[in-house]
Amino acid sequence: MTETSLFDTSAPPGVFAEVVFDRPIDQAYTYAVPEALRDRITVGQRVECSFGRGDKGSIGYVIGIGDVAPQRAVKSILRFADDVALVDDQLLKLTRWMADYYLCGWGQVLHAVVPAGARDKAGTKNATFVVSLLPEELPHPLPTVTPKQKQALDRLKQEGKPVELPRLVKMLGGGVSAIHTLVSKGLIRKFTERIERAESVEPGDDLSTPTTATPLSLNPDQVRAWDTIRTALDTGGFHPFLLHGVTGSGKTEIYLRAIEEVVRRGQEAIVLVPEISLTPQTIERFRGRCGQVAVLHSHLTDSERGAYWRRAAEGKVQVVVGARSAVFAPTRNLGLIVIDEEHENSFKQESTPRYHARDVAIMRARLAKVPIILGSATPSLESWHNAHKPGGYTKISMPNRVENRPMPQVTLVDLRHEPKTPGKYFAIGSTLEKGMRDALKAGGQVMLLLNRRGFSTHVHCPACGYVAQCAHCDLSVTFHRGKSALVCHYCGWETPPFAKCPSCSQLAIRYQGLGTEKLQEEIESKFPDKVVQRMDSDTMSKPGSHERVLDAFRDGSIHILLGTQMIAKGLDFPNVTLVGVVNADVGLHLPDFRAAERTFQLLTQVAGRTGRGPKGGRVMIQTFTPEHPCIALATRHAYIEFATQELHHRKEHQYPPYHRLARLIVRSEKQEASEAFANTLAGAFKEAIRRHATPGTAPLRLLGPAECPVFKLNGYYRFHFQIQSDITSPLHAVLREVLAVAKTPNGVEYQLDIDPYSML
Ligand SMILES: [Zn+2]
Ligand SMILES: [Zn+2]
Repeated sequence: MTETSLFDTSAPPGVFAEVVFDRPIDQAYTYAVPEALRDRITVGQRVECSFGRGDKGSIGYVIGIGDVAPQRAVKSILRFADDVALVDDQLLKLTRWMADYYLCGWGQVLHAVVPAGARDKAGTKNATFVVSLLPEELPHPLPTVTPKQKQALDRLKQEGKPVELPRLVKMLGGGVSAIHTLVSKGLIRKFTERIERAESVEPGDDLSTPTTATPLSLNPDQVRAWDTIRTALDTGGFHPFLLHGVTGSGKTEIYLRAIEEVVRRGQEAIVLVPEISLTPQTIERFRGRCGQVAVLHSHLTDSERGAYWRRAAEGKVQVVVGARSAVFAPTRNLGLIVIDEEHENSFKQESTPRYHARDVAIMRARLAKVPIILGSATPSLESWHNAHKPGGYTKISMPNRVENRPMPQVTLVDLRHEPKTPGKYFAIGSTLEKGMRDALKAGGQVMLLLNRRGFSTHVHCPACGYVAQCAHCDLSVTFHRGKSALVCHYCGWETPPFAKCPSCSQLAIRYQGLGTEKLQEEIESKFPDKVVQRMDSDTMSKPGSHERVLDAFRDGSIHILLGTQMIAKGLDFPNVTLVGVVNADVGLHLPDFRAAERTFQLLTQVAGRTGRGPKGGRVMIQTFTPEHPCIALATRHAYIEFATQELHHRKEHQYPPYHRLARLIVRSEKQEASEAFANTLAGAFKEAIRRHATPGTAPLRLLGPAECPVFKLNGYYRFHFQIQSDITSPLHAVLREVLAVAKTPNGVEYQLDIDPYSML
C-alpha cells in the first residue's frame, strides 16, 4: 500500500470518525471509516491510523462518529485495535472533563486511564484444574486415603466446581502431592484449560473460607450518619457527603452499610483508599460483607489489571476497592463512590494527567448522578471549606469513638527541656523512654513515628563546611547504613560513603541527623529484650512485607514498631497503648503552604492508632516547638479549631481553597535556558492577565518566576511561577491562550500543574 492510497478522497456521503491520540495536544483528527468497518465502529473504540506523513500506524480512541465530510481530503482508519469499545459514554465524559480541567490532551488522559492490560489481548494462560467426581465415576472398591487426602477430597467436594490446582493447595495450606495421589487413585480428575490470567487471583476467591462478617451495631452518631446517607441513596441523584469522624469513630461501618445497600439494589460501588491502607485487614472487611470485590493495587501485573477492567466492564464485580486509579473502574451501573482518608496526598497524581482522584471522583459521581462519601478524621481544608459553603457538601459529624472509648491522652514533651547526657545524643528523651517502659511492662505495644528514612540525614565536614549533596539535585543526601550508601531521596542517586572530606581531604566527616535506621539502633540498645521492627519504604519494598510485619505486630511477636508515616495510616491494633512521635517538627517548616495542614493530619492520624482497645492508650509527642498552633491543637484533637485558623490564614494569603492555583515549572539541563524561558513564559502570562482583566473583578495574580525550592532536580535546573485566581474560568482561559502559542525552545520543557500539591 502506497502512502497516497491511504487518502480517501472519495466524495461524501461517507462515515467519518474523530480520533484522539496519546499526545499533549487537545485536538481530535478526522479519519474516513472504510466501508468494511462502518457497521462495527463505535465511540470509545481504539483504532489504528496513520498520524502523519511516514507514520505506519498510531493507536487512538474514537471519540465521535459523523457523516459530514470534512472540507479537505482525509486519511482512512487502517484497522480496529480492539473489537469492542474500551470506554463507555460516562468515562468519555469524565476524561473529556479532565482534559479541559487539567489542560492536557484527551488522548493522553484516555491512555493513562485505561490500563495497559485491558488494551492487549495476551492476558491468558494455561491453568490446571481439579474437580471432584460423581459417585458413579468413582472406582470400586474405594481406595483408602490418608487424612491429608481426605481433607483435599472433602474440600473439593464442598466447592462443587473445578478449582485451580494452586488455589486448592493454598486453601489446604499445602498438600500438592496428596492431590496428585488422589488423581492417580482415580478419586478426582485433573484437566488443563486456557483462562484469563487474573482468574487465578480472582478477588474473593483466594481465601480458604470467606468470612461472612455481621454488621456491627451502631452508636447514636453512626445511626444519624447512616440515616442521612440512606435517605440520599433512596432519593437517588448526586449527593456529596463529608463524613468527619474522629479516629476510631467507626466510619468504615458506615461505608460498609452504604455499599451493602447499593449492592443489594444491583448496583456497584467504587471505594478509594490510600495505597498504604490496602492491607488484607481492610480488604477482608469489604469481602466479608459486599459480594464480589476487586482490589486494584500497585503490585498487580498489567494483565491482572486488564482482567479486572474487563470483569468490571462485564458487570461481574460489585465493589472495586483501590488506590487513585480505581476512580476510573468501568462499572456498568455505578451506585456509590466512597473515598476513605480523603485528605491523603497520595490521591494526587504527580505525572500527566496531574489529576486529584477526589476531584475526579466528585465529577464522576455528578455525571453518574450518585452519592459520594468523603471520609476523614482530618478532612482536607478544600473539603472542609466545601462542606461549609451554600450548595456544597453535606457534613456529617461523628465526634465520638465507638463504645464510648475516650480519645487518647496526649502529652507534649518539650525537647529543649529534656535532660541531656553530655557528649551523647539520644532521639528518645527520658520522658518518652519512661513512657515506653511503662507501656511495655503493662503488656502493651508501642508505635514510634519518625517521618525520615535512613541513618544520618546530614553528612558534612566540620573543617571546611562541606555538605554531601546529590550529583543531580540541589539536595543533601542521607546515609543509609543498611546498604552502606549515601542516597538522594528525590532521584535515588547513590554513592559510597566517604571517610575523607572530598573537598578538603580532612578525615573529619560527620554523620549527623536522625533517620529511622538510627532510631532503630537506639531503641534496640535501650530495649535489648524487646523485638523491634522498622517499617519504612526501605524495609517494605518487597511485596507482602507490609502484611507480614502487620501480622506479627498483631499477634504480639513485635513489641515496638517504628517507622515513617507508613505506620500512621488506618491501622487498628487494640493492644497499642503508647504512640510516640519522635520529632513532630519534621516537615513543619517546609516552604509549602500545606506544611501545617500535613503536620496536623499526620499527628492526629498517628495519635489515633492508640486507645482502640479496652486497655486505653496515650500519646507522647516530642517537639522543639510545643507552642506552634498546629502542634498544640493536634494535642487537643482540636480539628475544627485548627481548620478555622488555617482557613483564615489561607484566605488572607489567597491560597486554596479560596483561590485557584496553577503552577508552571520550567526545566532544562542548562540553567540560563531554563531561566530565560521561564521569564518569557511568565511575561506572556502577565500580558494575557492584563488583557483579560475586567473592571470590578479581582485580577489574576502571577507570583514569580523564581527558582523552585528544590532548584536542581534530576539534573534539571528548575524555575517556577504560580498563577492565582479566585475563580476557575479566567485562569483556564489565560492558561489556554498562552500555552497554545508557547514555543518551547530545544532542551527546555514546562509542566503545568492545576491545583498543585507539591510546591518543592
Ligand atoms: Zn572538608
Ligand atoms: Zn538527586
